[in-house]
Amino acid sequence: MSLNELYREVILDHYRAPRHHNHLDSPDGSAQGNNPLCGDEVTIELNLNGDRVSDVAAIGVGCSISQASASMMSEAVFGKTREEIDELVRKFKVMMAIEESAEEVVDPDRPGSALGDLEALQGVRKFPVRIKCADLPWITLEQALESAE
Ligand code: ZN
Repeated sequence: MSLNELYREVILDHYRAPRHHNHLDSPDGSAQGNNPLCGDEVTIELNLNGDRVSDVAAIGVGCSISQASASMMSEAVFGKTREEIDELVRKFKVMMAIEESAEEVVDPDRPGSALGDLEALQGVRKFPVRIKCADLPWITLEQALESAE
């Protein structure tokens, strides 16, 4: 299996069986985002325990890239602190070439630096229109975090 095929499998797996896909009973913060270019919609809900995301929901409709990104994002931020999430968001945006950085994004020698399943989305960089699909859940996450303050 080529790396591209592997990545496609990871994306389809999250699209078909999205993680954290149930609404929270009483979220501390929530936000809705949409990407009219593609018709993607994402709702992010979260509960905070102090500075830490104790629960998260990512629900939406749209293309496989947007929905897989939402699912991967929900897994990646679950249990993390605001500071850890800020770092994750930054790494994701650098990986997707949304933000520039001289630093190597994925360094296997640095613990905690790997983006895990999210690395499957790197291939999307080649399709600028789809970057908005992948970024939508992350923009919405930041809005949900702000609404929780
Ligand atoms: Zn899309």
